[in-house]
Amino acid sequence: MEEIRYVSTRGGEGSVTASQAVLHGLAADGGLYVPEKFPHMDISLQELAGMSYQETAYEIMKLFLTDYTEEELKTCIRQAYDDKFDTPLIAPLHEADGAFFLELYHGSTIAFKDMALSILPHLMTVAARKNGQKEEIVILTATSGDTGKAALAGFSDVPGTKIVVFYPKYGVSPIQELQMVTQKGKNTCVIGITGNFDDAQTAVKKMFRDQELGEKLKQQGFVFSSANSINIGRLVPQIVYYVYAYSRLLAEGKIQEGEKINFAVPTGNFGNILAACYAKMIGLPVGRLICASNENKVLFDFFRTGEYDRRREFILTSSPSMDILISSNLERLIYKIAGNDAEKCAALMKDLSESGHYRISEEMAEGLDDFYGNYLSEPETAATIGDIFAKDGYLIDTHTAVAAGVRRKYVDETGDQTKTVIASTASPYKFTRSVMQAIRQKVEGREDLELADELQSLCRVKLPAAIESLKTARILHDRVVDAKDMPKAVCDFLGIA
Ligand SMILES: *Cc1c(COP(=O)(O)O)cnc(C)c1O
Repeated sequence: MEEIRYVSTRGGEGSVTASQAVLHGLAADGGLYVPEKFPHMDISLQELAGMSYQETAYEIMKLFLTDYTEEELKTCIRQAYDDKFDTPLIAPLHEADGAFFLELYHGSTIAFKDMALSILPHLMTVAARKNGQKEEIVILTATSGDTGKAALAGFSDVPGTKIVVFYPKYGVSPIQELQMVTQKGKNTCVIGITGNFDDAQTAVKKMFRDQELGEKLKQQGFVFSSANSINIGRLVPQIVYYVYAYSRLLAEGKIQEGEKINFAVPTGNFGNILAACYAKMIGLPVGRLICASNENKVLFDFFRTGEYDRRREFILTSSPSMDILISSNLERLIYKIAGNDAEKCAALMKDLSESGHYRISEEMAEGLDDFYGNYLSEPETAATIGDIFAKDGYLIDTHTAVAAGVRRKYVDETGDQTKTVIASTASPYKFTRSVMQAIRQKVEGREDLELADELQSLCRVKLPAAIESLKTARILHDRVVDAKDMPKAVCDFLGIA
């Protein structure tokens, strides 16, 4: 098989191997790694239809991660997609509201980030070994809630790694905090900070750049790394479930071989929908990519006008994992529609960081034809949850509802009858309060865990183990520090002075 190498979207360095891209995360010039050329699926859809999730994962990931051996990849896949997931299907489909919901929330933290973060630690430790990196990997993460927990669950007790997560002590939901501070695993460390998420994020970025700190770590046998969503080791595993969704529909006779399907994706950082776009690029029969935003509708405006403009108010919504004004992974799409022109891409990204906006050329805009963008207001989101529950007895979370509602708008506007898969990114139990409100249940004065019990009796979906176990879990992390003391907290955890 032909080797696939990776280059930066900003063109600042030569190409690297897949495992080097996984290890580095971000390219040295601040760009994102993209495949120098795209592979193509070398197996028929009919053959894929007979495969398990794990087998599909191998067929897709081997196309991109060409310097991993078969044995290495298969071991990573086996370690990631095991009984941490509460169904052997890993990502089951559910038909409702005239579409297919691809449930990506059956992993340990009941949200879709588990799909990639359960395999990333294994891809990283293999990459370290392949590249002769002797130091132990120390993952540093600042989180506003979800990513932190999914990263903790993924890295917990993975040999050769440690993970430190910082969260705003007074800025996450009670369930999110409980999920993190009860995290098991000798190699995990969770620290609250007295500032907000931005303070945590800024301090983490500073630690990555701090050469003195880096040198000190190195002497003690450690090296910092990041698990954030721009890592190619998170993107590639996300392509798998789009192919799997297609092959399941084919296996169940819901579609014909070669028939195009649409994907509707609730979007924040643009990682998930970009993976759907990459699935199309490797040969999956895909029609439109429906990009759904909440009231932070930067992407909707971008698709409509060709101008990306972050200069606006940040709105807190009931779909917090999509409350984002800079969609980092969009840079990879910009690179693609610029005709893989790193210079053009770098110039636009410079505009964004210096003036908060950029505009693409008309020629580039033609490359966006595969995409449709729209958004849902808060009342529309709640109404979509309520409506689908009343009509089909199927309960979805706030993020998924944004995509379901935008799909309805798309069908109304275009009349397109193409079968559509909606990426269902979180369990309704993860955002119990908003979901209960949407189906008109009383939430005032009640604890989140109490609401979860009640939700169970209403929707007849078993309370996920991830929530059930919180009721009795012991608190294992209780340290709270000032943002300025974060480097010291890391050194304390690693036992270095
Ligand atoms: C992260 C997240 C999203 C957004 O996905 P991106 O890849 O950042 O676009 C949507 N829904 C949920 C529940 C998430 O956790």
